Amino acid sequence: MTPNIKPMKSKGIVYLVGAGPGDAGLLTVRGAELLARAGVVVYDALVNKELLGLAPPEAELIYAGKRSSDHSIPQEQLHRLLVDKARAGQCVVRLKGGDPYVFGRGGEEAEQLAAAGIAFEVVPGVTSSIAGPAYAGIPVTHRDYCSSFTVVTGHEDPDKAGQGVDWSQVAKAPGTKVILMGVTRIKPISQALIAHGMSKDTPVAMIRWATTGRQQTVAATLGAIAEVAEKAGFKPPGLTVIGEVVRLRAKLNWFEKRPLFGRRIVVTRTRAQAGPLARLLLERGADVLEIPAIRILPPDERQQIAEALLELHAYDWLVFTSPNGVDAFFQFFFKAFDDLRDIGGSRIAAVGPATADKLRALHLKVDATPGEYLASKLAAAMAEQGSLENLKILLLRAEAANRDLPKQLEALGAIVDDIACYKTAPETEDRNGAVARLLETGADWITFTSGSTVEHFNARMDLKSLLARHPRIRLASIGPETSKAIAALGLKPDLEAKEHTTGGLVKAMERAPAAKPSAGG
Ligand code: SAH
Repeated sequence: MTPNIKPMKSKGIVYLVGAGPGDAGLLTVRGAELLARAGVVVYDALVNKELLGLAPPEAELIYAGKRSSDHSIPQEQLHRLLVDKARAGQCVVRLKGGDPYVFGRGGEEAEQLAAAGIAFEVVPGVTSSIAGPAYAGIPVTHRDYCSSFTVVTGHEDPDKAGQGVDWSQVAKAPGTKVILMGVTRIKPISQALIAHGMSKDTPVAMIRWATTGRQQTVAATLGAIAEVAEKAGFKPPGLTVIGEVVRLRAKLNWFEKRPLFGRRIVVTRTRAQAGPLARLLLERGADVLEIPAIRILPPDERQQIAEALLELHAYDWLVFTSPNGVDAFFQFFFKAFDDLRDIGGSRIAAVGPATADKLRALHLKVDATPGEYLASKLAAAMAEQGSLENLKILLLRAEAANRDLPKQLEALGAIVDDIACYKTAPETEDRNGAVARLLETGADWITFTSGSTVEHFNARMDLKSLLARHPRIRLASIGPETSKAIAALGLKPDLEAKEHTTGGLVKAMERAPAAKPSAGG
């Protein structure tokens, strides 16, 4: 062997990961694992941006683009970027829509990595060419109809002579045909297929934004599809399925029958808290726009929490007033200790069910929660367990939280340390593009789950001007307190949930008419 004079440079690696077709749930377990340890994520236009949240907060996120017209990194530059980041020792996740090797130039990227001697692995993904039809109620194969399917690119102009797709071969191939990237060329493509012998009565479906809440499907015959698509204003990204299997859509169209399918719904909680509501809505087929108005940051003053952590054993009660408070406190706690027993033997109070759930998830028993979520009720619930006279109480709250609760507790004789574990700040970034979409297209509902989300969202988006611009938007409130905050802006909620929980809010929207009744009646 010739001696290798170059030193081993790094342990950098590139993972070519399929992000799936759009539905975030269709990422593979392996893909999620790799995202969680990525130092750099390079992602394409069709990748669901929510998946980027699986990467560590400090990971570098690089948009590689590629929606025909937008600013995208040229392919050669992209190859260099992947090589350079890996050479610098990074764990790079190259996140590509669908499957990385079904079109989209994943093969070329792998070749370049191989040529540069960079370690790489491939994580296949759920391709839109199969999942898209499935979500429109179309199995790509079925024993009664066909025993093969063909996936072709519609990127090349069928009129152009050359080595592109041979449409006469496609027309002759038996079985289902799936065309990717062909939305704007559907007219010449369908004409070419008919000219090469396919029946103009062959069933066809076109599906855009498949597997997401924005999914839209048009169906017709091969002879009519171009006109039907044009009339529907059908635009990319989309795919086309051609073949007898399309008939099964009449029986198997499960996704588009979900109760909130086609409804665009804004979720206004912080990113960490949006989860449960967003998940419920996605399950019901809604097109969810997550637009948090605030984000949670460490408090400015950290000396107090540091001191309190050293004194935990001295407290009789620990009191949590929000799920954020629980998260923030335990972040500090586990930085200081690695044993949960260091929390000591104090009793624990939580102001509401979501806060209590967070504590129970840590296997901590909650000794007091008020029946109603008010400061006075919480103090009373704690006092029920015995006098608070001279007891030391640690309140773990947000910076600048209001003084009602400490006052109530002090009135009962307690010695209260009111300590900030976090602060809130206005959210200004639009990481998932949801703000841009809301401004451009409006929505069916904006959901509010607390008075403060109303205030913060209004400060960010200016509700009145948003409603003036998109009159079809309706406001959904979780309960009377939230409705009051909406009324304080001179607005009225279109709906108030009867049951004041996220589940109750979702149910109320399901029962409401699909669209806002027009002003005329
Ligand atoms: N590797 C991808 C395909 C990349 S080519 C995959 O396996 O799915 C990009 C084309 O894929 C788009 O032009 C469109 O035709 C199709 N596509 C990707 N995601 C889609 C989606 N959610 N709905 C409809 N078509 C989609």
